[in-house]
Amino acid sequence: MNVIEVKGLKKSYGQVHAVRGVDLSIPAGEIFALLGPNGAGKTTTVEILEGFRSRDAGQISILGFDPQTQGHAARQWRDRIGIVLQSAADAGDLTVIETIEHFSGYYSKPRDIDEVIVAVGLEDKTGALIRNLSGGQRRRLDVALGIIGSPELLFLDEPTTGFDPEARRAFWALIEQLRGDGTTILLTTHYLDEAEALADRVAVINNGLIIEVSTPAELGGRATSKALISWRDGGQVKTEESDNPTSVVTRLTTQFGGEIPELSVTRPSLEDIYLKMIGGVHEQDS
Ligand code: ATP
Repeated sequence: MNVIEVKGLKKSYGQVHAVRGVDLSIPAGEIFALLGPNGAGKTTTVEILEGFRSRDAGQISILGFDPQTQGHAARQWRDRIGIVLQSAADAGDLTVIETIEHFSGYYSKPRDIDEVIVAVGLEDKTGALIRNLSGGQRRRLDVALGIIGSPELLFLDEPTTGFDPEARRAFWALIEQLRGDGTTILLTTHYLDEAEALADRVAVINNGLIIEVSTPAELGGRATSKALISWRDGGQVKTEESDNPTSVVTRLTTQFGGEIPELSVTRPSLEDIYLKMIGGVHEQDS
């Protein structure tokens, strides 16, 4: 049974059709990234799966449970889920440690508080008031609160927005650690390098519809796309596209009698492919 199973999900806000028929199947242990431009429907989708928004149509099973169902079962279900929302609630008058301790009390199997603080790199800020944290430090606290309950399933909505490059790399290492524990993760991000580094599969969503689901390496035909070879010949930069870049390089090696000036061989990045995919889809008519 998949941890996340979604069929035909729809949600409108008045005349805005935010989600227009989304299907998702995410097995246990997978790290899955939802990619899409601003307003594509990512947060709406994720917050419906988390049980924070209602839906207009579709079937949803999250850890075998419909998030819209209320009652005692919902509490046991919440115990198995971790959530990092796009904008976190304010807890300005509490310290970092007080906030984490408070949240850990909600869960039946909380992680060790000190370990979580180290994992998110807040060990120098344990006594600081939340309202005195920087934006990136606030975000790290959000991540700490998402993982404190040892969730089987973790939702991360733009988790590293505001992180400096070092904090982002540390966060990636943390996600790898959670992968090792078998945690299933649904992530939204605008950072294509983050999706590439972390995700087993990605879905590109635009105007409320999924365009493609694939591995980062294969998205949009990336794995079979031509390589671009570029080099300098006299005063000019020359380029050539090829399915067989090795043969082009061999030819150039002979031509130059050795080292090829300023040689580079590249394939389209995930970002190149992604921008091409969403560029080809027009705004929905409203
Ligand atoms: P971003 O990358 O900017 O976070 P997103 O992909 O998460 O975008 P959503 O927040 O799901 O996009 O928004 C999808 C569409 O629904 C947008 O057109 C947005 O304006 C609209 N929308 C979202 N929430 C509401 C709401 N509570 N009321 C009315 N419209 C909403």
